[in-house]
Amino acid sequence: MNTFLFISVAALVGAVIGSFLNVCIYRLPIDRSIVFPPSACESCKRELSWYENLPIVSWVVLGARCRTCQTRLSFRHPLIEALTAAMFGAAAWYYGPSVLLASRLVFGCALIVLFAIDLEHHLLPNVITLPGIAVGLAFSFVTEPGWIASLVGAVVGGGSLWLIAEAYYRIRHEDGLGMGDVKMLAMIGAFIGWPLTIVTLMMASFAGACVGLVVIALRKGDLKYALPFGTFLAVGAALAATVGPGLVRWYLGFYRPL
Ligand SMILES: [Zn+2]
Repeated sequence: MNTFLFISVAALVGAVIGSFLNVCIYRLPIDRSIVFPPSACESCKRELSWYENLPIVSWVVLGARCRTCQTRLSFRHPLIEALTAAMFGAAAWYYGPSVLLASRLVFGCALIVLFAIDLEHHLLPNVITLPGIAVGLAFSFVTEPGWIASLVGAVVGGGSLWLIAEAYYRIRHEDGLGMGDVKMLAMIGAFIGWPLTIVTLMMASFAGACVGLVVIALRKGDLKYALPFGTFLAVGAALAATVGPGLVRWYLGFYRPL
């Protein structure tokens, strides 16, 4: 198939999937089914017509308001749809039609949902992370990173964060990291393998430290503000999956054992 056509179709499919991710982001934290009932206004509960459900387009055409109750529609909807469309288009261009593309798209969707839910609710639902570990492992038998790297990634990813969480709890007697973060990094490890999981953890910690410093500076020394680490893990994993391999090669090029 023509490359441009392939990327365009992927982006279009991404926008529609993004619409579904919005449903997951809204309903999973409040324990509601993601398939039933159909989409409705979050305020007046009126069921949406098909033309109110078009990704991005509806939000713009309706002027970001519900037609009945005039409640403002969250900017999150078109943002997630555009992000998912961009992710699908970019991945289609980068990987081409392959099993690895399918694996990375599933992985990307999981990261987007976890990113948004953790940011808003400080929560990483098991219904995403646990099946995510299984799906990542299943993919690894037919594509990158291979099942050994995947299995080691899940164990090292989950295990290292679990140790950090456990040590923090012993020392500070309060929860620093949740078990959600542990399961999320295990999922990341299953999808991209242990070397890139280490890159993920480094990038997430670095991004977390940078944002943390800004927060501390702006709030004049308030360290109690709990930053959702899963949000940083999602960003770190997205970076690791794309620029990570080049980074690892670059580092190994510099590293000469004596
Ligand atoms: Zn309404």
